[in-house]
Amino acid sequence: MKIVFLTIFPEIIESYLSSSIIGKAIKKGLIEYKVLNIRDFSKDKHKKVDDYILGGGKGMLFTPQPLYDAVMYSKSLLPNSKVIYMSPRGKVLNNELLKNFSRNDEFVIICGRYEGIDQRVIDLVVDEEISIGDFVLTGGELPALVFFDSLVRMKGLLHDEAVENESFSYLGGLLEYDQYTRPREFMGLKVSEVLVSGNHKEIEKWRRMSALKNTYISRPELLLKVKLSKDDIMFLSKLARELHGLKGF
Ligand code: SAM
Repeated sequence: MKIVFLTIFPEIIESYLSSSIIGKAIKKGLIEYKVLNIRDFSKDKHKKVDDYILGGGKGMLFTPQPLYDAVMYSKSLLPNSKVIYMSPRGKVLNNELLKNFSRNDEFVIICGRYEGIDQRVIDLVVDEEISIGDFVLTGGELPALVFFDSLVRMKGLLHDEAVENESFSYLGGLLEYDQYTRPREFMGLKVSEVLVSGNHKEIEKWRRMSALKNTYISRPELLLKVKLSKDDIMFLSKLARELHGLKGF
């Protein structure tokens, strides 16, 4: 996988990439990256990259020239790349989007700042606007790293990490089940006997129920997409009665 980050704060990206587990995949040559400073592409004699917003309003905006040139240069390095602008008004990132993106091997990621970027750059060179959630951060560097990190996992480039049976992919879309390590008892709390029984069928059953419970409590809407068995429905119905004092559904 090859990726170019465009930012005015290269050190934010660099520091994460050099210190995370992703650094290992980079050393192995599975990921190649460049972090380019958008300022270096500015034709302004003071290397300015922002300007006021036409029509009025608080704040500044990335002026088109440096960013456009930075993207065009990046495209010359990665001709098959998808150009992504991290933006609160983009599609909200989720596993499904990541699966689609994971078919690509080359990416150019624009990290915005100020009040964002000139719309003409989006119209001319951006393939997709991606948001990491319904909130606004001060810059696109963290969102770009979130996108990159989750994409690297989705592409299976981190061989030491368990990427199957995780939240959103377990049993067709459930959240992950509760997990434990040693000791078997901690602060008076004991791990279920099932998990240390060695009975894999029972362990699977326990994990499925734990995942159903976690999904029901935190993200019930995800259950609508999951194929539920009769046993699942009975379990959820009992859980609902316990949690809400309902008479079943
Ligand atoms: N004026 C913009 C708006 O209301 O949509 C917000 C600009 S924000 C202060 C500056 C930059 O941070 C954006 O250009 C974008 O790159 C990044 N950013 C902020 N929140 C984000 C989010 N939820 N997802 C992706 N990028 C985000």
